[in-house]
Amino acid sequence: MKNHFDYIIVGGGSAGCCIARRLSEKSNCTVALLEAGPKDRHPFISIPAAFSEMFKSKLDWQFESVEEKELNHSKMYIPRGKVLGGCSSVNAMIFTRPHQDDFELWNSNLWSWKLCLPYLKKVEKQFGFLHDQDGDAISQYPYHLHSLSSDFILSSQNYGLKQGKTSSSISESAFPFLKNIVKGKRYNAAKAYLHDRPKNLSVFCNTEVRHLLFEQSKCVGVQTEKEKLIATNAVILSSGAIQSPLLLMNSGIGNEHQLKENGIPVRLKNDQVGQNLQDHIICGFGFKCDNTKTLDSLNQPYEKFKALLQYVLKSSGPLTSNIAEAGAFLHLDGNLVPDIELHFAPSFFIQHGFIKPQGFGFSLGPTLLHPKSKGHLHINKHNPNKAQIEMNYLSDPKDMEIMLRGMEIALDIAMQHPLKKHITGIEVPKTIPKSKNEIELLVRQYTQTLYHPVGTCALGSHPDSVVDEKLKVNGVEQLYVVDASVIPQITSSNTQLVTMMIAEYFADFLLPNK
Ligand SMILES: Cc1cc2nc3c(=O)[nH]c(=O)nc-3n(C[C@H](O)[C@H](O)[C@H](O)COP(=O)(O)OP(=O)(O)OC[C@H]3O[C@@H](n4cnc5c(N)ncnc54)[C@H](O)[C@@H]3O)c2cc1C
Repeated sequence: MKNHFDYIIVGGGSAGCCIARRLSEKSNCTVALLEAGPKDRHPFISIPAAFSEMFKSKLDWQFESVEEKELNHSKMYIPRGKVLGGCSSVNAMIFTRPHQDDFELWNSNLWSWKLCLPYLKKVEKQFGFLHDQDGDAISQYPYHLHSLSSDFILSSQNYGLKQGKTSSSISESAFPFLKNIVKGKRYNAAKAYLHDRPKNLSVFCNTEVRHLLFEQSKCVGVQTEKEKLIATNAVILSSGAIQSPLLLMNSGIGNEHQLKENGIPVRLKNDQVGQNLQDHIICGFGFKCDNTKTLDSLNQPYEKFKALLQYVLKSSGPLTSNIAEAGAFLHLDGNLVPDIELHFAPSFFIQHGFIKPQGFGFSLGPTLLHPKSKGHLHINKHNPNKAQIEMNYLSDPKDMEIMLRGMEIALDIAMQHPLKKHITGIEVPKTIPKSKNEIELLVRQYTQTLYHPVGTCALGSHPDSVVDEKLKVNGVEQLYVVDASVIPQITSSNTQLVTMMIAEYFADFLLPNK
């Protein structure tokens, strides 16, 4: 491998693919994109309904939190894509913009809705979406929509919600999600950004970076498992919200006490590295609907075979479903930003899909969009690549309050016509809860991550922030972090679009258009 480049990007995920593309097409500079995982060739990557089949596989880093106090001391499994495209190769493909008022909480003039919107649109265009007369992204292609998902939207209307359109914008309504699925297949960041790429961009898969290299206060390259690679202009960390802070810590940037405890020489003290960890959590009901064939039929060998044939021959059918087909945003108490996002799936989805009950069912539950609880991650003495992750879910009582309200609304919607008529029983929990206390027990037992960790290298104007507003690591020259970890406050949206927006915007900071 050639070992000198102008720019080195660590992590070929959602953000990394975008930056690599933009830097290489904006200049003649040599750009190396380093990805720890393999190329995105595994067939499960393309099949939308197979996303959870990749959990705990070679394509997954398979992180786990410490025991979560408020979740009955259970550990949370945290999947992260270890493959070109990163999490965009294993995620559920829901494509939503942040709410425009989310940016108020970022406290930065550079990251206002007005300045960010063109970059949201740029990502949407890169993914092949069109824009309608309101400027919202819409798809050129139809999506799989199970009749139960349509019934969820009707039941939401009967509950009192509006029917929304399938676009990237968040509105207080129920609607089928916009998805990065093209002609029945996942369209990930690698497909969107790395097809017909410029010749000055080199992509190296199966290349894991161990730590960064420095000359005085300047970052000059990276150490991979095999060799040193030198970056003349800059190193950009795009390793995701778990690994970017870990790489900083492995390179001596972080909390002094923690680094010393792990025997890592301190290069730069910064107590914020790995702090401010935020995530969206979801809990849901699993209703039985034995008389309605749902996506659970894919658990039966004959039905699976039939679906596979339909997928291969016609790129259609149940395998083209992203499972969480529809949803709704709810503003409680007239809040400007939504508090809850409901996710609806015409199938059981229990414990990341690992538990597959007999028969047919559907899942419906609230996602807490603006958690007050924050976690942190610490480097692990025994395995420097595995973090000690403390999510601290529901540690702030306000979060439980909102989850309980969301659960009550989800239950109410399920009990409206036409969803109600499909229900033949309940799987999660075993009986319909009759009190707030019973719902709380359910939340503590069944809450899981919606897979959106952010915030661990948060941007800010304060010199103590991990990165400044242009995403340069404070106190180090030629080193940037650009991925979900720089998001200072989690947005109301699912997080892939906002992460790529950050990458698009960053490319213009680094190499302004002439
Ligand atoms: C199961 C799942 C479902 C999700 N569903 C949705 C959804 O439906 N909609 C949505 O908007 N968001 C969803 N998300 C979240 C969204 O995908 C992420 O927020 C977003 O992709 C994060 O992008 P990133 O660039 O920060 O990190 P990633 O995309 O994770 O990229 C980081 C990359 O860096 C690589 N890497 C890490 N360490 C190293 C190293 N040391 N050396 C080299 N490479 C390294 C990783 O292998 C990875 O490829 C989901 C996520 C998951 C896991």
